[in-house]
Amino acid sequence: MTVLIIGGGASGLMAAITAKKFAPSAQVIIAERLDRVGKKILATGNGRCNFSNINTKPVNYYGKDPSFVNNALKEFTVSDTVNFFNELGIFPREEREGRLYPYSLQASAVLDALRIKCDMLGIETLLNKNVKEISAKKGRLRAVFDNGERLGADSMILAAGGCASPALGSDGSGFEILKKLGHTITPLSPALVQVKTDIKPIKGLSGIKIDAMAALIQNDKVIASDSGEILFTDYGLSGPPIFQLSAQMPFKKGLCIALDFMSEYSLRQVYDILEGRKNSLLGLTMENFFGGLLNKRLGNLIARAAGIEKLSFKVDDLDRDMLWRISRLIKEYKIEVTGLNGFKNAQVTAGGALTDQFSPFTMQSKFVENLYCCGEILDIHGDCGGYNLQWAWSSGYLAGKNAVLKKEMETI
Ligand SMILES: Cc1cc2nc3c(=O)[nH]c(=O)nc-3n(C[C@H](O)[C@H](O)[C@H](O)COP(=O)(O)OP(=O)(O)OC[C@H]3O[C@@H](n4cnc5c(N)ncnc54)[C@H](O)[C@@H]3O)c2cc1C
Repeated sequence: MTVLIIGGGASGLMAAITAKKFAPSAQVIIAERLDRVGKKILATGNGRCNFSNINTKPVNYYGKDPSFVNNALKEFTVSDTVNFFNELGIFPREEREGRLYPYSLQASAVLDALRIKCDMLGIETLLNKNVKEISAKKGRLRAVFDNGERLGADSMILAAGGCASPALGSDGSGFEILKKLGHTITPLSPALVQVKTDIKPIKGLSGIKIDAMAALIQNDKVIASDSGEILFTDYGLSGPPIFQLSAQMPFKKGLCIALDFMSEYSLRQVYDILEGRKNSLLGLTMENFFGGLLNKRLGNLIARAAGIEKLSFKVDDLDRDMLWRISRLIKEYKIEVTGLNGFKNAQVTAGGALTDQFSPFTMQSKFVENLYCCGEILDIHGDCGGYNLQWAWSSGYLAGKNAVLKKEMETI
């Protein structure tokens, strides 16, 4: 039996190892378009590889039908992932919010462990092999490479990723292959990416980082929030909380982000703090009013947004209304979202192969017998924090297992 895995990324490597585990005599081949496998794994978690998250639940995933993840996450759980990597020598380290990393904090260790395992199991790796088409005849599949070569297999696992960070290999070609086979690709969008905003309200802050709580708002309703360091840029916002919120932005309209610069304090407490400052800073101007409380450039911006145009405005002249206006702006500084940065900088793809057309129990295509998909090529993406790699491992495991077990059953 021959199994061809198209794409040597996280889900493809997991699928290959699993296929060999369940069918040691099978010939398992990975065809990878780049000159090495797992390039993206090296870039994950800022080079530290946040390979899973102990809090993984179906609610961390998005797509047309996020419940598609349920079975895969049950069959190959976070504990299974930890055990799997532990057996490969990757001792886990838990960081904030349940994020799991290799204890050495080196993504290269994760890739090395996967590669060594593939070698030990006799998995063949074909590099610089770009598949452009799969032809299917009577249950037998054939991959066509862009140089015209062909390779037949009993089962194929398409693990070609999405469109995010194409420099790391996933250029969207997997979607074209699936479309030719009759599969539907849902609309695509970058996710886990920087956010473009109306820049007027943040003009003057470009280049600075400020700690804040960021809430994503649609139709006056908070749909998600996260806190941490926000980076102000000339196109909008970046930083970990913004990446996190961006997971929920694709395909939604009328979004804005509200920043709370003093999230530990209530609105009333902020007002009292400002009133106290007014009384201690009498005789000074707005130039000095925010010093030691807020970043100076932010303070100036908030003063202007509150209607105080001149920094020479006297602290003594701040009235109740002005103090309330400033307090409200500190607690809820709204910025309209105008879009997302492109695939070039995105960590994941929102959208992909319509999951209705695949079995959530086996990852097999309902249209093309013996063809399986796993990872980001499917219309599933997760929150920031190890959830996307967990999806790659869980779905890769299911695809690898079922691709060989189905064939073995047929020969009995
Ligand atoms: C910078 C960055 C940081 C990230 N950090 C994290 C993190 O810390 N934690 C986390 O959970 N997730 C993280 N992610 C997301 C995570 O890496 C992906 O969701 C995951 O790698 C997807 O796995 P995959 O196997 O589906 O696709 P990929 O890893 O993209 O692999 C697809 C492979 O298929 C190959 N390929 C594509 N088309 C073809 C073709 N036609 N023929 C042959 N080969 C082909 C590609 O070259 C590639 O090697 C990060 C992503 C990026 C870009």
